[in-house]
Amino acid sequence: MSSEVRTRIAPSPTGFLHLGTARTAIFSWAYARHFGGRFILRIEDTDVVRSTPEAVAAIIDGLAWLGLDADEGPFFQMQRLDRYREVVDGMLAKGTAYRCYCTPEELESTREAQRARGEKPHYDRTWRPEAGKILPAIPEGVAPVIRFRNPVDGEVTWDDLVKGPITISNHEIDDLIIVRPDGVPTYNFCVVVDDWDMRISQVFRGDEHVNNTPWQINICNALGAPLPRFGHVPVILGDDGLKLSKRRGAVSVLAYREDGYLPEAMINYLARLGWSHGDEELFSRAQLVEWFDTAHLVKSAAHWDPKKLAWVNNHYIKAADNERLATLVLPLVEARGGKAGLAHLTAVVALMKDRCDTLVQLADAAMLFYRDVVIDADLKAATVTPAIVPALESFVKQAAATTWDRASISALLKAVLVEHGLKMPQIAMPLRVLVAGQKETPSADATLELFGRDRVIEAVKKGVRGVVA
Ligand code: GLU
Repeated sequence: MSSEVRTRIAPSPTGFLHLGTARTAIFSWAYARHFGGRFILRIEDTDVVRSTPEAVAAIIDGLAWLGLDADEGPFFQMQRLDRYREVVDGMLAKGTAYRCYCTPEELESTREAQRARGEKPHYDRTWRPEAGKILPAIPEGVAPVIRFRNPVDGEVTWDDLVKGPITISNHEIDDLIIVRPDGVPTYNFCVVVDDWDMRISQVFRGDEHVNNTPWQINICNALGAPLPRFGHVPVILGDDGLKLSKRRGAVSVLAYREDGYLPEAMINYLARLGWSHGDEELFSRAQLVEWFDTAHLVKSAAHWDPKKLAWVNNHYIKAADNERLATLVLPLVEARGGKAGLAHLTAVVALMKDRCDTLVQLADAAMLFYRDVVIDADLKAATVTPAIVPALESFVKQAAATTWDRASISALLKAVLVEHGLKMPQIAMPLRVLVAGQKETPSADATLELFGRDRVIEAVKKGVRGVVA
């Protein structure tokens, strides 16, 4: 094997980009980047019934959103059928594969009989050629499958990059079907040919594939292909300790984009979910690449923790460039009926972002400035009291001549307080209620600045009208 590092992610396009697949992609990508190698995208679409173009698009979109740029691909298995056929023909010629004409009914009755005898159901090797064995007559009208002639004795051992040494006895495994009756080859076969042709050096994938690996190693050996290293990453469990699944909350990467998570937060959180670098919880993409190693891939199942993800996302929202955030939040504000200019929204997100865990929350918070203000009569009566009206009027009068920035507004508020012998909340609260329609907003000076002088003056003038003792 050449020493070049070549990793891949090989999703089946049967739904969306699953969080587990994304995490495996992150590890494969980070490993390749760490060693200056190449990262390859392969779409495993031989399950023609379940594969869809929408799912292919979702995978490509999801990986692009996460910034997991592939150096090669996407390659599609269904475009490689000629190559698989060529390899199968070679195996048939060499005797490492053979045709099996058992019908599904025959196979089922064999399995039933085995179960009745208390045996583990397995293929009885009816059609497996052996020296001196006479095979049954080929039946009419049965499209054969092609099976791999798995070694009957011995065991398969590999040193897993995540789990350490794993050994599985060949007694445990059947002569695998590598080509279905319709001529389409199966996953365990295609994956070997692809990893061989694409010169994959490290295979990272979910540990649901551990049981497939002995077949793949045996097929590799039968082909004389070099073996990649395998690393099987443990599953992600939900809050309830069960495998993260669609039924129990979002498992699609793009659903998190919809919900307002930043890609850098997803990369950080997902990477940390199955790997560690000391006590670091927050690390950049560059640090991940620099630090990534297989020695610190976590062996046990990871637990999905939405609160921690929210905390990580909040960190990246706080760190993000405000104009970028505004660009991301703008469509959400518009979807809420708000009309915002980018420059104004940029200032709004700068003010609001610290307390927001998601872009959705940030859009909701930003709407403070972009909705029609409706003032609750009781709230107004409780805060805009006759005693406070003179101070509000004085504020409005001086507002016209004040430079409309945060510092000048703050100075004006203080001057009005002094003039009327009030404390900050006594004026800030009624101003908030009249201008924003609510008692709580970010600091009054910054909020008033962003509402704009005209809107503030108009709202306060209108609000104090008719407030009498
Ligand atoms: N197509 C397989 C899956 O989506 C990936 C298998 C592999 O990585 O070898 O689970």
